[in-house]
Amino acid sequence: MATGHYHDGSIKVRMYSFSQTDGSRAFWKEKLSSALDLRKKLGLYPNPDCNMFRLVHGEGDGFPGLIVDVYGSCAVLQAHSVGMLRELNKISTALQELFGHKLETIFDKSIESLPEIVTPENQQKYLLGSAPSAIVKEHGVSFRVNWEEGQKTGFFLDQRENRKLLGSYSRGKKVLNAFSYSGGFSMYALTGGAELVHSVDSSKKAAAWARENAKLNSGEDRHEFFEEDVFDYLKKTEQDYDLVILDPPAFAKHLKAADKAMIGYRNLNTEGLRKISAGGILFTFSCSQVIDKILFRKIIFQAAVQAKRNVRVLHQLSQGPDHPVSIYHPEGEYLKGLVLYVD
Ligand code: SAH
Repeated sequence: MATGHYHDGSIKVRMYSFSQTDGSRAFWKEKLSSALDLRKKLGLYPNPDCNMFRLVHGEGDGFPGLIVDVYGSCAVLQAHSVGMLRELNKISTALQELFGHKLETIFDKSIESLPEIVTPENQQKYLLGSAPSAIVKEHGVSFRVNWEEGQKTGFFLDQRENRKLLGSYSRGKKVLNAFSYSGGFSMYALTGGAELVHSVDSSKKAAAWARENAKLNSGEDRHEFFEEDVFDYLKKTEQDYDLVILDPPAFAKHLKAADKAMIGYRNLNTEGLRKISAGGILFTFSCSQVIDKILFRKIIFQAAVQAKRNVRVLHQLSQGPDHPVSIYHPEGEYLKGLVLYVD
């Protein structure tokens, strides 16, 4: 009937083909080629101004349990199931056949997505080349991406289109980017002409990368990084902002944690709204799968009431189109965002 990988999780067999197949290198190459075709149609390849994108988004591309992110001449692979881990060598060879000399590095980061018992410390991580980082571009904005030490595969590619939108609202604005990581939204604000940009993140590495990225985009004199907890920062800062971004990590990874996460999102957004001057804008996100669009909107409603602000919805955002959602696997849609006009 179909072919899939056995998986010790809530979905017992993760189907990668709805017919009988041999799972050969040629089979995976064909699938990768069709994933690349879609990115070509999206204008993401080849594109020197935007050479970072997601090539494979799990079920959304018919590869359950696999992520492939491309950063210039590097592809970062991450297997989320043992079955997919065992296919990686074939997939790596197929990628080299597909991209030819344009691909210089292939890095396997499954060590962070699978238990150590299946990906031992000494497992070879570079399947091609050995470069740990590169300077790449997204809509013409430059970023140093370090796939070896960075979070996830090195960068949060899912926010690309939302960052571009933020850039278009930034001219002359005072911007707060909370949970900034390496300054994704901050760099778009700087290149979009913001007056000042404050990035806040508790990670030391994020601080170093964000500072380097600000230099790369000639915005270091308008950018300041605060290496601290966002909740502490919001409590203590007296600065008012015209534009605030709240892009926290998933507060709930499981349904059991949903109640606590709801309170977390509500309080965070209440504090964020309090920092926005009248006529300002809030970009607020949740990447928790268990908090759906409708619930997220209700949480923001509560935050607006709590902060006593009049709020209007300008945009409803999601992940970029290189993170496609199979209509048969709606769980693949995880990123929700609202852009709010705050009176
Ligand atoms: N907006 C970013 C991605 C954010 S990922 C982009 O566009 O690239 C979430 C970030 O929140 C991570 O960098 C993590 O280090 C940071 N973080 C998590 N909890 C935090 C906290 N309590 N205070 C400050 N930063 C936090």
